[in-house]
Amino acid sequence: MARTLLGVAGWPVSHSRSPAMQNAALAELGLDWLYVPVPVPPELFAATASALAGSGFRGLNVTVPHKLAALELADTLSPAATAIGAVNTLTFEGGAIEGDNTDAAGLIDAIGEVPAGASALVLGAGGAARAAAWALADAGVADVGVWNRTPERAVALAEDIGAVVVQQPESADIVVNCTAVGLAGEELSELGLDGVEPGALVVDMVYADDPTPVQRWAEQGGARFVGGLDVLVHQGARSLALWTGRDAPLEVMRLAVGARPDS
Ligand code: NAP
Repeated sequence: MARTLLGVAGWPVSHSRSPAMQNAALAELGLDWLYVPVPVPPELFAATASALAGSGFRGLNVTVPHKLAALELADTLSPAATAIGAVNTLTFEGGAIEGDNTDAAGLIDAIGEVPAGASALVLGAGGAARAAAWALADAGVADVGVWNRTPERAVALAEDIGAVVVQQPESADIVVNCTAVGLAGEELSELGLDGVEPGALVVDMVYADDPTPVQRWAEQGGARFVGGLDVLVHQGARSLALWTGRDAPLEVMRLAVGARPDS
């Protein structure tokens, strides 16, 4: 019998840590499945994903720049995917394509319990920021502020998700960096965080081999810090559970991506 396949579709996708993470998880679960990178340019995404649905693939993770195209391709959508307006997980189910967004639940899993009445600040207005703002509001954060370098995109996000635009970053109980700052040597000042005190918890969606500027800011200010690899592991665990119906082996996945063990 042919091996069941899974993959991550992106352009580019060679940098993705998902294949190592998901293959380690599949081995731990005793499943003889294979998770592969699927490099696909935007103009070929819909045709490729549709073809894979009929070619032994059980599902796909979807990353930049395909999350909107995946939303349009799916036959059915989860409430999270509909509300966020983006899909990061496709499941091929008896000829139908189901779309979900595990970035949102993965963020909340990585944070743990969100304190009632907490305030939050989301930095950025791209796909990750949309998922984070929706997830925090859905988890009960009453006051979700959004700041973005390009304010018009923050306004659009706030209108769609029900958040409030802030003109300058200000202190909040939970700060989530959903910008690319920290990926390529950018400074904290590009986020306007100089002079702003971190609150109780800071999450950086960006992950790098060295501590990111946002991580240093959080730790110097005494905040609890959750890194991008933790979020990656939890969104991947949610996707794996959708495809296999099994609980994902989190510690094995953490080890495979080089994230800190759960404390
Ligand atoms: P995106 O849609 O391309 O959005 C990028 C965001 O970063 C925009 O808000 C952009 O602002 C902002 N930005 C870029 N360079 C900046 C700079 N120098 N100063 C200030 N703002 C800047 O990307 P995305 O998919 O939302 O992803 C955002 C980040 O999260 C990426 O680093 C990605 O790797 C990471 N991510 C991690 C996970 C995970 O599981 N850990 C999951 C998803 C994404 P403008 O609108 O002004 O351009």
